[in-house]
Amino acid sequence: MSSPQPRANIADIPPYVPGKPPTVRPGMTSYKLSSNENPYPPLPGVIEAVQAAVGQMNRYPDMGSTALYDALARELDVPVGDLSVATGSVGLIYQLVQAFCDPGDEVVFAWRSFEAYPIAVTAAGARTVQVPLLPDARHDLDAMAAAITDRTRIVLVCTPNNPTGPAVTRAELDAFLAQVPPHVLVVVDEAYLEFVRMADPVDGLATYRTHENVVLTRTFSKAYGLAGFRVGYAVAPAPVAAALRAVSLPFGVSTVAQTAAIASLERRAELLERVDALVAERTRVVDGLRERGWDVPEAQGNFVWFELGERTADFALAADELGIVVRPFAGEGARVTVGEPEANNRLLQLAASFPRRAAPL
Ligand SMILES: *Cc1c(COP(=O)(O)O)cnc(C)c1O
Repeated sequence: MSSPQPRANIADIPPYVPGKPPTVRPGMTSYKLSSNENPYPPLPGVIEAVQAAVGQMNRYPDMGSTALYDALARELDVPVGDLSVATGSVGLIYQLVQAFCDPGDEVVFAWRSFEAYPIAVTAAGARTVQVPLLPDARHDLDAMAAAITDRTRIVLVCTPNNPTGPAVTRAELDAFLAQVPPHVLVVVDEAYLEFVRMADPVDGLATYRTHENVVLTRTFSKAYGLAGFRVGYAVAPAPVAAALRAVSLPFGVSTVAQTAAIASLERRAELLERVDALVAERTRVVDGLRERGWDVPEAQGNFVWFELGERTADFALAADELGIVVRPFAGEGARVTVGEPEANNRLLQLAASFPRRAAPL
């Protein structure tokens, strides 16, 4: 073969299916509930800080993201050396696999879970080991521990789990960690951390402080509402964080992104009020769905999961006709982000009219 060929694993990378933008319907406001974005605009002051930073676009960003590292270290009360910032926490997942997996090494995760996992793992030439969720859409942590082999380098625990919603408890995570060999890295993906309201929640920072093999990944994309700017960070023991920084894209996090993240951290209290409002909406949506007879899994993120099987595409179409765009997973179900109250009302309207079960044959 004479033309340049990518490595064989590149052809195996599954596509990332982004949430669709809403269909434009004359005379009707449409809502995008397909990407777990925050419906609120940036907090007061954040846009102004970013506008001031825009004037420096002829300069490279601070490669060390010094001010952002300092702000995070203060906020979390961790050493700067235990942090690694990146272009979203998706960037961190790529870096984790790149830094810790040789070709053929295994990465264990639950499935269905975050669709970037198999992409990042396959791109690095590592192997995915997908452990089915329990019937109530929670992680099967015992089966995940049992799936660890000599080739396992990383286990990804997505809590709350995207797209199904449940979160693991602290007791469950502790029992799981006790079964994991110390040389296997356990990544706790806390993208939706701020939305969790449950008994015995995971305390990520306490867990990382007591384990040499635990990494937390977090993001400014969801609760902080900065999805368009691509900033995430890992908290990890110093040697792990150093490996992540070593493989990071130089100058990846832009000046405006660093500025927006710092300005948002400074307004954390206001931000958490908005998160509380979204959680209240989530409760209203989940209660409303259950009243209408829908058996949705526990929702600890800013989204709700509908297990619909073959009816998924019909559900997405019916949603679209009501002016809400959801994220269908063909043949499995649909994930719907908790959005503006009007958007959530339309979801409840859809849930009242769409049949809960397939018609008998
Ligand atoms: C959205 C999401 C992320 C992070 O996204 P970034 O925008 O890349 O920070 C990470 N993990 C899960 C499970 C997510 O849903």
